[in-house]
Amino acid sequence: MSLLEIENQLKAFESEAIEAFQSVSDLKELENLRQKYLGKKGTLKTFQKGMGQLDQSERPKLGQLTNGVQERLENALTRRKDDLFEEELLARLEGEKIDVTLPGSCTGIGHIHPLSQITEEIIQIFYSMGFTVADGPEIETDYYNFDALNTPDNHPARDEQDTFYTNVGPKVLLRSQTSTVQIRVMEDKKPPLRIISPGRVYRNEEINARKYPLFHQVEGLLIDKDVSFGQLKGTLTAFIQALFQKPVKTRFRPDFFPFTEPSAELDSQCLFCMGAGCRTCGNRGWLELLGCGMVDPNVLQGVGIDPEEWSGFAFGMGVERLAMLKYGINDIRYFFNNDMRFLKQF
Ligand SMILES: [Zn+2]
Repeated sequence: MSLLEIENQLKAFESEAIEAFQSVSDLKELENLRQKYLGKKGTLKTFQKGMGQLDQSERPKLGQLTNGVQERLENALTRRKDDLFEEELLARLEGEKIDVTLPGSCTGIGHIHPLSQITEEIIQIFYSMGFTVADGPEIETDYYNFDALNTPDNHPARDEQDTFYTNVGPKVLLRSQTSTVQIRVMEDKKPPLRIISPGRVYRNEEINARKYPLFHQVEGLLIDKDVSFGQLKGTLTAFIQALFQKPVKTRFRPDFFPFTEPSAELDSQCLFCMGAGCRTCGNRGWLELLGCGMVDPNVLQGVGIDPEEWSGFAFGMGVERLAMLKYGINDIRYFFNNDMRFLKQF
């Protein structure tokens, strides 16, 4: 075959290949064509192999020709590849386009748990009286949970607050009361103080309609100069009346807590019969609501506050108990069962 004939065949081959590149519609087909025309066993290779049949003098000319064809075809291939890539990308974007005008699929909107609702109400009432919220850890040491609260080892009050011990350390436990926060605040800040500490507490107790090993408390502490028991009574009576939105009477019965002296249990007139006697109050006309008292000077001294200069009162309430009374719930377990029929009512 003469060089001229080969040159003509090469031209025909080049235009066939370029046309073929244009005709494919995806990258995979294009790759097949690349192998067919430019691959190791491709058409162009056979032209290059045919070089041996030519005269020595004609070989460089054919080399030049095939190199030119190879270069042009590779360029055409790259351009087609870019075009196809862009086309495929656009098609994919088009396919995955989100129609923002379509109505969405809805998930049900929940609402705040009744215990959180009442906690928030309690906080708001005390806010209005100048108290701020203090937070503390649920995992505590023996010291903050008992010792600093005037309840040393072997004190009988420890039995009433049996809690869960952890394996974090020998005396590391789940707090049985939020009074621990009061100690932490008194250690950190100087009086005057006005704080409440809402939060989870734990007791090692059997579960029944009135008791649960996990529950919530809100404790309060006020430290100032010349604080009187009268101020304690006034503060808590105003709180109870605001929470239940009824002008109920209150009474204070002597009680014992290790960290207050004197200590009292606050009763309110029964919210259901207003004192006449009913099943909820066991016909007594009164309901036990919370514990309170004047902060024991020993506790103040323990955290470096001079009891000659400062005095104060403290109180603590069970959130579940107040929620049960406010919403008329007769079993504490409802709060923790996650039963939608119950929760939907609040
Ligand atoms: Zn009653």
